[in-house]
Amino acid sequence: MIPKEARNYLETRLKKGRVICLTGAGISSESGIPTFRGKDGLWQRYKPEIYGTAEGLISVLKTQPKNMVNYLVDLYSFLLKARPNPAHLALSVLEKEGILNAIITQNIDNLHQAAGSREVIELHGNAFRIRCMRCNKTITLEKDRISEMLRLLKVSQDSRIKLLKIFSRYFPRCTCGFRYRIDIVFFGEILPQDELSRAYAELSNCNTLLVIGTSLAVFPAAELPLYAKERGAKLIEINDVPTALSHSCDYKIIGSAGKVLTEVLSILKN
Ligand code: NAD
Repeated sequence: MIPKEARNYLETRLKKGRVICLTGAGISSESGIPTFRGKDGLWQRYKPEIYGTAEGLISVLKTQPKNMVNYLVDLYSFLLKARPNPAHLALSVLEKEGILNAIITQNIDNLHQAAGSREVIELHGNAFRIRCMRCNKTITLEKDRISEMLRLLKVSQDSRIKLLKIFSRYFPRCTCGFRYRIDIVFFGEILPQDELSRAYAELSNCNTLLVIGTSLAVFPAAELPLYAKERGAKLIEINDVPTALSHSCDYKIIGSAGKVLTEVLSILKN
């Protein structure tokens, strides 16, 4: 599946290390999380300009609380069940072997960490974390607690007052006085600047950037591969279809991320 020239590069250059990975929703599709714009994706049922923005969600809560509950139940139904797939696991092996320095991910699903990866830079936050809106202190949102919240929301979905009470219990006030919110980046919001700075620092100093399962339609993540290329990195794209980045890549590998990365590991073992 991996073309000969790409295979040669992997055999000779990848072992030299300083590899960075940029991942998107496609790497988690084999874990059962549909890409948002794909066939079963959330944006087929929920308008992204409403459900993908903080203001949109607040207005849905005010005017159509049932829809808000349905959206959260749908979003978390995939995230709660998902487990790391061979692609996530292969990247964690590459890190342990000292080949991969860091993963920059646009995903919010926590699956890289669940697979054992340690250096994970999250550009769009994490759906299993809440963050204070003023001081940015974060707290992990355990799976059991999310399931419990969804159960309560479902039985209270006809009453906006009850829903607000449930939300204030699971998104409490911080010691600084401000409220916690889900730690994911909505459309139109600024990315966490410390994570973005870490991403640029890693990309300034890498030999190879693996771009996996992303259409690169979302900025500023879409700019990162060319930033790395301008600083001398080789770009390898792994995707099940060609993307807008494909023509700028040194090597293109078309296929599912799980299969391709399993093959990459076996090439490196030989
Ligand atoms: P995208 O949906 O725009 O692109 C995904 C790409 O992966 C597509 O080109 C698709 O053809 C490809 N793909 C799908 N399955 C694949 C597989 N098995 N192997 C290889 N490639 C595969 O995703 P994006 O570029 O990450 O942008 C979407 C935004 O939505 C991101 O900001 C992300 O935060 C968010 N999102 C996150 C998750 C998640 O956390 N798992 C899921 C959906 C969306």
